[in-house]
Amino acid sequence: MTLTTLRTLDEIRSTCRGVDGQLGFVPTMGAIHAGHQSLVRAARQECDVVAASIFVNPLQFGDDEDLDAYPRREAEDAVLLAAAGADLLLLIDKDEMYPPDFATTITQSETLVTTLEGECRPGHFEGVLTVVAKLFGLVGPCRAFFGRKDYQQTVVVRRMVADLNLPVHVEVCPTVREPDGLAMSSRNAYLGDDQRAAALSLVGALRAAEQAFRAGERSAPAIEAAMETILRAGTDEPEYACLVDPLDMSRRTAARAGDVAVVAARVGPARLIDNHSLGDTIPGLPARP
Ligand code: AMP
Repeated sequence: MTLTTLRTLDEIRSTCRGVDGQLGFVPTMGAIHAGHQSLVRAARQECDVVAASIFVNPLQFGDDEDLDAYPRREAEDAVLLAAAGADLLLLIDKDEMYPPDFATTITQSETLVTTLEGECRPGHFEGVLTVVAKLFGLVGPCRAFFGRKDYQQTVVVRRMVADLNLPVHVEVCPTVREPDGLAMSSRNAYLGDDQRAAALSLVGALRAAEQAFRAGERSAPAIEAAMETILRAGTDEPEYACLVDPLDMSRRTAARAGDVAVVAARVGPARLIDNHSLGDTIPGLPARP
């Protein structure tokens, strides 16, 4: 299959809306890795035509964040997306996406956008929701594939799709990890060797949560304390280590299978996040019988 690159909004709109059959859509910010490729492969299996977008969305970065440093490598990305089975690559120009008179922002009234990632990165989810809504508006009805690695993002996007009756079916795919358990992320490219080793404390904290849960611990604060100990030992700046309800991200007091352990921390120049559903398998622990 050859990959066709579309650059203007008109081209994207007319091509995606003219697709014969089901369109699969994978929005990304580029610096493509095996995690992104897994989404494209899932879309390839379920859809007739697969479109992936690369857009480093300025609206979702805070002033002190890594917008300028964010890795940009379109040529390599195109090869990786084509290898995973993408048919269309949407490369949208920032000025066409956000013309000077752009005036609309999507937000959510629930605590969803102001807790955890939303608290650490004020305005982040407004930026995510606004660009995702714009992308959905451009590509039209589709199945959209998101990674579970950005768990809170999947919750807020699903909420928006339901609330606004958008003609999109959201699919959430498992987190792809390196062999040692580190969740793949475009920001892992910022890590030096020592930092790469320290970054393992994120998955280590999630493992500690799972271990405590399997040992019978049901107190959420006790499980959170176990996570925090590991995160503090390994990273420069732990930001949170919490146990939350999988549907609305509210904090738990008593742990149940399916609750989501979420962690965020700075490791050197990178801000990393990860999560794990209690009761699921996790690298470094035997699968549950
Ligand atoms: P990003 O380019 O970081 O905005 O990510 C684009 C999409 O890829 C999002 O839906 C992410 O959740 C997903 N993604 C990023 N890393 C991974 C991973 N390690 N495994 C699965 N999906 C991922």
